[in-house]
Amino acid sequence: MAIEDLTTANPTEIDAELDRLNTERAKAEHAVRMLTKRRQDWLEAHAADLAAGLEPQIESASQTVMECKVAAGPLEDEFDRRGGWTRAWLVLNAGGHVHRTMECRTCFDTTKFAWLTHLSGHDETEIVELAGKTACTECYPSAPVEVRNRPSQIKTPEQLARIAEKAERAKARAAKAITAPDGTPLRTRHGGAIATEFSARRSYAELLSYARHLAKRNVAYHRDTIAEYQEDARLILVALAAKHGRTEDDLREELAPKVEARWQREHSKW
Ligand SMILES: [Zn+2]
Repeated sequence: MAIEDLTTANPTEIDAELDRLNTERAKAEHAVRMLTKRRQDWLEAHAADLAAGLEPQIESASQTVMECKVAAGPLEDEFDRRGGWTRAWLVLNAGGHVHRTMECRTCFDTTKFAWLTHLSGHDETEIVELAGKTACTECYPSAPVEVRNRPSQIKTPEQLARIAEKAERAKARAAKAITAPDGTPLRTRHGGAIATEFSARRSYAELLSYARHLAKRNVAYHRDTIAEYQEDARLILVALAAKHGRTEDDLREELAPKVEARWQREHSKW
């Protein structure tokens, strides 16, 4: 995702794009190295045709490396133009530390980092608070002792994305779900346990339509059963009203055509 206006983009947006470009470039650089080595092997094995066949791939990967460098240039320039901003990296191993720079002398060339781009431009105090005991003592020498004793709450952008997705799915599930107004499962005598709004609406129509059918056959004989079916329907109505912050009358009116349709289709001709 290219950034439209660099001067108004926030540090997180700029660094996230830089991170994406760096990753793509590293992949392409790796491909160039592998392919070049393979070409060399073919040449040594006197397979000039096969070696030549690798040229387009090497060319294309080199092109990608160049494009990533060119695209990153203005982003790095913007960082410099603003006089820089805070950045943080997490070392990717168990108990890995958070550093303000990958140049930290406690790290190595081979150290694998996740760039915490969501914290770019954030106050260093905030970063240290989140990092707790994983805050690097070289990078953040002034972190207070009580902060250093806390467990880390740092998440990588990937972890945060997964958490957000999970919350999104839970929200979608909650939107479809129905419970009794007190949050306990919605149970009806004749319609059983009802978990979704869809089945709540369908059961409501079924219950009332059937109650009407019984009333038509013999209202005196079925009086108690009819009352039970009506009570079940009312439980559903109360649950729907509570979920949507609407009145029972309002929902009864909305559902009336559904009850009528059900009656016409299933029970009116019995
Ligand atoms: Zn450090």
